[in-house]
Amino acid sequence: VQRSMNEKGQFTIGIDLGGTSTRVGLYGSTMQLVDSYRMPTRVSAGPSACVGEMAGAIFPLLRNNGIVAGDVLGIGIGSPGPINLHTGVLGVLPNLPGWENFPLRDALAEAAEIPTILESDANAAAIAEWKFGAGQESVLDTMAVVTLGTGVGSGLILGGRVWHGMSGMGGEVGHATVDPNGVLCNCGSRGCLEMYASANGLLRSATEIAKSAEGSAALRKLVAEEDSFTPQEIASLAEREDDRSARIVFERMGFYLGIGIANLINTLDLPIVIVGGGVASAWPLFAPEMFRAVREFSVVYRMVTPSQNETLEWNRTFIRPALLGPSAGLLGAGLLPRLAAIESTSVDTSLTPEMA
Ligand SMILES: [Zn+2]
Repeated sequence: VQRSMNEKGQFTIGIDLGGTSTRVGLYGSTMQLVDSYRMPTRVSAGPSACVGEMAGAIFPLLRNNGIVAGDVLGIGIGSPGPINLHTGVLGVLPNLPGWENFPLRDALAEAAEIPTILESDANAAAIAEWKFGAGQESVLDTMAVVTLGTGVGSGLILGGRVWHGMSGMGGEVGHATVDPNGVLCNCGSRGCLEMYASANGLLRSATEIAKSAEGSAALRKLVAEEDSFTPQEIASLAEREDDRSARIVFERMGFYLGIGIANLINTLDLPIVIVGGGVASAWPLFAPEMFRAVREFSVVYRMVTPSQNETLEWNRTFIRPALLGPSAGLLGAGLLPRLAAIESTSVDTSLTPEMA
Protein backbone atom coordinates (compact mmCIF):
# COMPACT_ATOMS: atom_id res chain seq x y z
CA VAL A 1 0.00 0.00 0.00
CA GLN A 2 1.50 3.31 -1.05
CA ARG A 3 1.16 6.12 1.43
CA SER A 4 1.85 9.74 0.73
CA MET A 5 4.57 11.34 2.80
CA ASN A 6 2.04 13.57 4.53
CA GLU A 7 0.47 10.52 6.08
CA LYS A 8 3.84 9.10 7.03
CA GLY A 9 5.20 12.21 8.69
CA GLN A 10 6.17 15.81 8.16
CA PHE A 11 9.62 15.65 9.69
CA THR A 12 12.87 13.86 8.94
CA ILE A 13 16.05 13.44 10.93
CA GLY A 14 19.49 13.70 9.40
CA ILE A 15 22.65 12.45 11.09
CA ASP A 16 26.11 13.33 9.85
CA LEU A 17 28.49 10.87 11.48
CA GLY A 18 32.07 12.09 11.40
CA GLY A 19 35.34 10.85 12.82
CA THR A 20 35.44 13.71 15.37
CA SER A 21 31.87 14.96 15.72
CA THR A 22 28.33 13.88 14.96
CA ARG A 23 25.50 16.26 14.05
CA VAL A 24 21.84 15.45 14.37
CA GLY A 25 19.38 17.68 12.48
CA LEU A 26 15.59 17.83 12.61
CA TYR A 27 14.10 18.91 9.28
CA GLY A 28 10.60 20.10 8.39
CA SER A 29 8.52 19.27 5.32
CA THR A 30 10.37 21.74 3.06
CA MET A 31 13.74 20.63 4.47
CA GLN A 32 14.10 23.67 6.69
CA LEU A 33 16.35 22.93 9.67
CA VAL A 34 14.04 23.03 12.71
CA ASP A 35 16.65 22.18 15.30
CA SER A 36 20.04 20.51 15.52
CA TYR A 37 22.49 19.06 18.00
CA ARG A 38 26.21 18.43 17.80
CA MET A 39 28.20 16.02 19.94
CA PRO A 40 31.70 14.56 19.86
CA THR A 41 31.93 11.11 18.24
CA ARG A 42 33.34 8.90 20.99
CA VAL A 43 34.96 6.54 18.50
CA SER A 44 36.82 4.51 21.12
CA ALA A 45 33.59 3.91 23.11
CA GLY A 46 32.47 1.77 20.17
CA PRO A 47 29.58 1.93 17.74
CA SER A 48 26.88 0.55 20.07
CA ALA A 49 27.53 3.30 22.64
CA CYS A 50 27.53 5.96 19.90
CA VAL A 51 24.27 4.69 18.44
CA GLY A 52 22.82 4.97 21.95
CA GLU A 53 24.01 8.59 22.11
CA MET A 54 22.47 9.34 18.69
CA ALA A 55 19.12 7.98 19.80
CA GLY A 56 19.58 9.83 23.07
CA ALA A 57 20.00 13.08 21.10
CA ILE A 58 16.94 12.44 18.89
CA PHE A 59 14.40 12.08 21.72
CA PRO A 60 14.98 15.56 23.28
CA LEU A 61 15.13 17.16 19.80
CA LEU A 62 11.63 15.83 19.12
CA ARG A 63 10.29 16.54 22.61
CA ASN A 64 11.62 20.12 22.70
CA ASN A 65 9.86 20.83 19.42
CA GLY A 66 6.59 19.17 20.38
CA ILE A 67 7.00 16.34 17.87
CA VAL A 68 6.14 12.69 18.45
CA ALA A 69 8.04 9.84 16.77
CA GLY A 70 4.99 9.11 14.59
CA ASP A 71 5.42 12.53 12.93
CA VAL A 72 8.88 11.50 11.70
CA LEU A 73 9.12 9.97 8.24
CA GLY A 74 12.52 8.47 8.96
CA ILE A 75 16.16 8.91 9.85
CA GLY A 76 18.87 9.29 7.24
CA ILE A 77 22.44 8.78 8.36
CA GLY A 78 25.57 9.65 6.40
CA SER A 79 28.64 7.70 7.46
CA PRO A 80 32.24 7.57 6.28
CA GLY A 81 32.58 4.78 3.73
CA PRO A 82 33.01 2.14 2.55
CA ILE A 83 29.62 0.77 3.60
CA ASN A 84 27.60 -2.16 2.34
CA LEU A 85 24.58 -0.09 1.37
CA HIS A 86 22.41 -3.14 0.77
CA THR A 87 22.86 -4.60 4.24
CA GLY A 88 23.53 -1.32 6.09
CA VAL A 89 26.76 -2.72 7.54
CA LEU A 90 29.98 -0.70 7.85
CA GLY A 91 33.15 -1.77 6.09
CA VAL A 92 36.69 -1.11 7.27
CA LEU A 93 36.79 2.61 8.06
CA PRO A 94 40.15 4.37 8.60
CA ASN A 95 38.48 7.18 10.63
CA LEU A 96 36.37 4.85 12.80
CA PRO A 97 38.75 2.12 14.00
CA GLY A 98 37.01 -0.78 15.73
CA TRP A 99 33.69 -0.11 13.98
CA GLU A 100 34.24 -2.73 11.23
CA ASN A 101 31.23 -4.85 10.26
CA PHE A 102 28.88 -2.97 12.59
CA PRO A 103 25.22 -3.07 11.44
CA LEU A 104 24.79 0.70 11.84
CA ARG A 105 21.46 1.04 10.01
CA ASP A 106 19.60 -1.65 11.92
CA ALA A 107 21.15 -0.75 15.27
CA LEU A 108 20.03 2.89 14.95
CA ALA A 109 16.55 1.95 13.68
CA GLU A 110 16.14 -0.29 16.71
CA ALA A 111 17.51 2.21 19.26
CA ALA A 112 15.44 5.15 17.94
CA GLU A 113 12.43 3.04 16.88
CA ILE A 114 12.31 5.00 13.62
CA PRO A 115 12.97 3.59 10.11
CA THR A 116 16.56 4.39 9.11
CA ILE A 117 18.39 4.73 5.80
CA LEU A 118 22.20 4.55 5.64
CA GLU A 119 24.23 6.32 3.00
CA SER A 120 27.89 7.27 2.61
CA ASP A 121 28.68 10.82 3.77
CA ALA A 122 29.95 11.72 0.28
CA ASN A 123 26.70 10.52 -1.32
CA ALA A 124 24.66 12.42 1.26
CA ALA A 125 26.54 15.64 0.40
CA ALA A 126 26.03 14.90 -3.31
CA ILE A 127 22.28 14.45 -2.82
CA ALA A 128 22.05 17.83 -1.05
CA GLU A 129 23.97 19.62 -3.82
CA TRP A 130 21.74 17.90 -6.40
CA LYS A 131 18.45 18.93 -4.78
CA PHE A 132 19.32 22.27 -3.14
CA GLY A 133 22.77 23.33 -4.31
CA ALA A 134 24.87 23.74 -7.45
CA GLY A 135 23.17 20.80 -9.19
CA GLN A 136 19.53 21.78 -8.92
CA GLU A 137 19.38 23.33 -12.40
CA SER A 138 20.84 20.22 -14.05
CA VAL A 139 18.13 19.03 -16.44
CA LEU A 140 19.49 15.49 -16.76
CA ASP A 141 19.61 14.88 -12.99
CA THR A 142 23.13 13.65 -13.65
CA MET A 143 26.26 14.91 -11.94
CA ALA A 144 29.38 14.11 -9.96
CA VAL A 145 30.02 15.86 -6.66
CA VAL A 146 33.66 15.72 -5.59
CA THR A 147 34.17 16.67 -1.94
CA LEU A 148 37.65 17.85 -0.92
CA GLY A 149 37.86 17.35 2.84
CA THR A 150 40.28 15.45 5.06
CA GLY A 151 40.14 12.94 2.21
CA VAL A 152 38.50 13.16 -1.22
CA GLY A 153 34.98 11.76 -1.44
CA SER A 154 32.57 11.74 -4.31
CA GLY A 155 29.00 10.96 -5.14
CA LEU A 156 27.59 10.13 -8.55
CA ILE A 157 23.99 10.96 -9.45
CA LEU A 158 23.14 9.27 -12.74
CA GLY A 159 19.71 9.83 -14.28
CA GLY A 160 18.17 10.83 -10.97
CA ARG A 161 19.59 7.96 -8.94
CA VAL A 162 22.56 7.71 -6.66
CA TRP A 163 25.01 5.29 -8.26
CA HIS A 164 25.98 2.85 -5.53
CA GLY A 165 27.80 0.40 -7.75
CA MET A 166 27.66 -3.39 -7.54
CA SER A 167 28.67 -3.66 -3.89
CA GLY A 168 27.95 -0.18 -2.64
CA MET A 169 31.46 1.18 -3.21
CA GLY A 170 30.71 3.25 -6.31
CA GLY A 171 32.17 6.73 -6.56
CA GLU A 172 35.58 6.25 -4.97
CA VAL A 173 37.05 8.96 -7.17
CA GLY A 174 39.44 9.86 -4.34
CA HIS A 175 41.35 6.70 -5.22
CA ALA A 176 41.46 7.31 -8.95
CA THR A 177 45.10 7.20 -10.05
CA VAL A 178 46.31 10.61 -11.18
CA ASP A 179 50.03 9.73 -11.06
CA PRO A 180 51.09 6.06 -11.31
CA ASN A 181 54.54 7.00 -9.96
CA GLY A 182 53.08 9.19 -7.23
CA VAL A 183 52.82 9.16 -3.45
CA LEU A 184 51.81 5.95 -1.63
CA CYS A 185 48.17 6.02 -0.45
CA ASN A 186 46.60 4.33 2.60
CA CYS A 187 44.53 2.23 0.20
CA GLY A 188 47.66 0.41 -1.01
CA SER A 189 47.85 2.15 -4.36
CA ARG A 190 49.96 5.15 -5.28
CA GLY A 191 49.25 8.56 -6.78
CA CYS A 192 45.56 8.58 -5.78
CA LEU A 193 43.70 11.88 -6.26
CA GLU A 194 43.21 12.03 -2.48
CA MET A 195 46.98 12.32 -2.00
CA TYR A 196 46.96 15.68 -3.82
CA ALA A 197 43.52 17.27 -3.56
CA SER A 198 42.48 16.59 0.05
CA ALA A 199 43.38 18.82 3.01
CA ASN A 200 45.99 16.27 4.10
CA GLY A 201 47.29 15.96 0.55
CA LEU A 202 47.59 19.72 0.29
CA LEU A 203 49.61 19.91 3.53
CA ARG A 204 51.91 17.11 2.36
CA SER A 205 52.37 18.89 -0.94
CA ALA A 206 53.08 22.21 0.82
CA THR A 207 55.72 20.54 3.01
CA GLU A 208 57.39 19.14 -0.11
CA ILE A 209 57.33 22.46 -1.95
CA ALA A 210 58.59 24.35 1.12
CA LYS A 211 61.69 22.10 1.18
CA SER A 212 62.31 22.48 -2.56
CA ALA A 213 64.09 25.29 -4.40
CA GLU A 214 60.65 26.84 -5.06
CA GLY A 215 59.88 27.16 -1.35
CA SER A 216 59.74 30.66 0.13
CA ALA A 217 60.85 31.55 3.65
CA ALA A 218 57.22 32.42 4.51
CA LEU A 219 55.97 28.98 3.42
CA ARG A 220 58.77 27.22 5.29
CA LYS A 221 57.83 29.20 8.41
CA LEU A 222 54.16 28.22 8.04
CA VAL A 223 55.01 24.53 7.57
CA ALA A 224 57.03 24.62 10.81
CA GLU A 225 54.13 26.11 12.82
CA GLU A 226 52.08 23.07 13.71
CA ASP A 227 48.95 24.91 14.90
CA SER A 228 48.51 27.31 12.00
CA PHE A 229 49.70 24.97 9.23
CA THR A 230 46.28 24.58 7.56
CA PRO A 231 44.97 24.83 3.97
CA GLN A 232 43.31 28.14 4.97
CA GLU A 233 46.62 29.65 6.09
CA ILE A 234 48.39 28.50 2.90
CA ALA A 235 45.56 30.08 0.90
CA SER A 236 45.88 33.30 2.85
CA LEU A 237 49.66 33.33 2.24
CA ALA A 238 49.00 32.91 -1.47
CA GLU A 239 46.22 35.49 -1.69
CA ARG A 240 47.17 38.24 0.76
CA GLU A 241 50.91 38.09 0.41
CA ASP A 242 50.99 36.78 -3.15
CA ASP A 243 53.55 34.18 -2.06
CA ARG A 244 54.67 32.38 -5.22
CA SER A 245 55.39 29.02 -3.54
CA ALA A 246 52.00 29.04 -1.74
CA ARG A 247 50.39 29.65 -5.13
CA ILE A 248 52.32 26.67 -6.56
CA VAL A 249 50.80 24.46 -3.80
CA PHE A 250 47.30 25.21 -5.10
CA GLU A 251 48.30 25.09 -8.77
CA ARG A 252 49.70 21.60 -8.28
CA MET A 253 46.50 20.56 -6.51
CA GLY A 254 44.42 22.01 -9.35
CA PHE A 255 46.48 20.09 -11.89
CA TYR A 256 45.86 16.70 -10.25
CA LEU A 257 42.22 17.51 -9.51
CA GLY A 258 41.86 18.40 -13.19
CA ILE A 259 43.23 14.99 -14.22
CA GLY A 260 40.75 13.27 -11.88
CA ILE A 261 37.83 15.31 -13.24
CA ALA A 262 38.99 14.76 -16.83
CA ASN A 263 38.80 10.98 -16.25
CA LEU A 264 35.29 11.36 -14.80
CA ILE A 265 34.13 13.42 -17.78
CA ASN A 266 35.76 11.11 -20.33
CA THR A 267 34.08 8.11 -18.70
CA LEU A 268 30.63 9.53 -17.96
CA ASP A 269 30.14 12.55 -20.28
CA LEU A 270 28.68 14.51 -17.36
CA PRO A 271 26.74 17.78 -17.72
CA ILE A 272 27.99 19.06 -14.38
CA VAL A 273 30.81 18.34 -11.94
CA ILE A 274 30.50 20.05 -8.56
CA VAL A 275 33.56 20.58 -6.37
CA GLY A 276 32.86 21.02 -2.65
CA GLY A 277 34.42 20.52 0.77
CA GLY A 278 36.60 22.79 2.87
CA VAL A 279 39.55 22.87 0.45
CA ALA A 280 37.24 23.95 -2.39
CA SER A 281 36.89 27.40 -0.80
CA ALA A 282 40.33 28.14 -2.32
CA TRP A 283 38.63 27.89 -5.76
CA PRO A 284 40.25 31.04 -7.27
CA LEU A 285 43.69 29.63 -6.43
CA PHE A 286 43.30 26.18 -8.00
CA ALA A 287 40.52 26.54 -10.59
CA PRO A 288 42.56 28.03 -13.48
CA GLU A 289 45.05 25.15 -13.37
CA MET A 290 42.20 22.64 -12.84
CA PHE A 291 40.37 23.86 -15.96
CA ARG A 292 43.63 23.82 -17.94
CA ALA A 293 44.28 20.18 -16.94
CA VAL A 294 40.68 19.13 -17.68
CA ARG A 295 41.03 20.58 -21.19
CA GLU A 296 44.43 18.92 -21.64
CA PHE A 297 43.35 15.44 -20.48
CA SER A 298 39.70 15.21 -21.52
CA VAL A 299 38.90 14.89 -25.20
CA VAL A 300 35.21 14.88 -24.29
CA TYR A 301 35.48 18.15 -22.33
CA ARG A 302 37.27 19.84 -25.22
CA MET A 303 34.20 19.14 -27.37
CA VAL A 304 31.67 20.32 -24.77
CA THR A 305 33.52 23.23 -23.11
CA PRO A 306 30.97 25.96 -22.30
CA SER A 307 31.53 29.45 -23.64
CA GLN A 308 30.86 30.92 -20.18
CA ASN A 309 30.38 29.62 -16.64
CA GLU A 310 27.36 31.71 -15.52
CA THR A 311 24.34 29.93 -17.01
CA LEU A 312 24.07 26.20 -17.67
CA GLU A 313 23.80 25.34 -21.36
CA TRP A 314 22.47 22.20 -23.02
CA ASN A 315 25.20 19.77 -24.19
CA ARG A 316 27.95 21.59 -22.32
CA THR A 317 29.91 20.34 -19.29
CA PHE A 318 30.08 22.73 -16.34
CA ILE A 319 32.54 22.46 -13.47
CA ARG A 320 31.31 24.55 -10.58
CA PRO A 321 31.97 25.11 -6.88
CA ALA A 322 29.45 23.61 -4.47
CA LEU A 323 26.93 26.01 -2.94
CA LEU A 324 25.99 24.45 0.36
CA GLY A 325 29.17 24.40 2.45
CA PRO A 326 29.87 22.05 5.34
CA SER A 327 26.18 21.43 6.18
CA ALA A 328 25.59 19.59 2.89
CA GLY A 329 26.19 16.17 4.46
CA LEU A 330 23.63 16.74 7.21
CA LEU A 331 21.02 18.13 4.82
CA GLY A 332 21.54 15.23 2.40
CA ALA A 333 21.15 12.73 5.23
CA GLY A 334 17.91 14.43 6.26
CA LEU A 335 16.71 14.20 2.66
CA LEU A 336 17.19 10.42 2.40
CA PRO A 337 13.85 9.37 3.96
CA ARG A 338 11.99 11.90 1.83
CA LEU A 339 13.67 10.76 -1.39
CA ALA A 340 12.99 7.13 -0.55
CA ALA A 341 9.31 8.03 -0.05
CA ILE A 342 9.09 9.55 -3.53
CA GLU A 343 9.29 6.62 -5.86
CA SER A 344 10.43 8.49 -8.96
CA THR A 345 13.59 9.71 -7.28
CA SER A 346 14.19 6.80 -4.93
CA VAL A 347 17.75 5.95 -4.06
CA ASP A 348 18.98 2.85 -5.82
CA THR A 349 17.74 -0.23 -3.99
CA SER A 350 17.32 -2.38 -7.07
CA LEU A 351 20.28 -4.60 -6.21
CA THR A 352 19.41 -6.96 -3.41
CA PRO A 353 21.66 -9.62 -1.90
CA GLU A 354 19.27 -12.28 -3.29
CA MET A 355 19.79 -11.02 -6.82
CA ALA A 356 23.57 -10.65 -6.49
ZN1 LIG B 1 44.17 5.46 -2.65
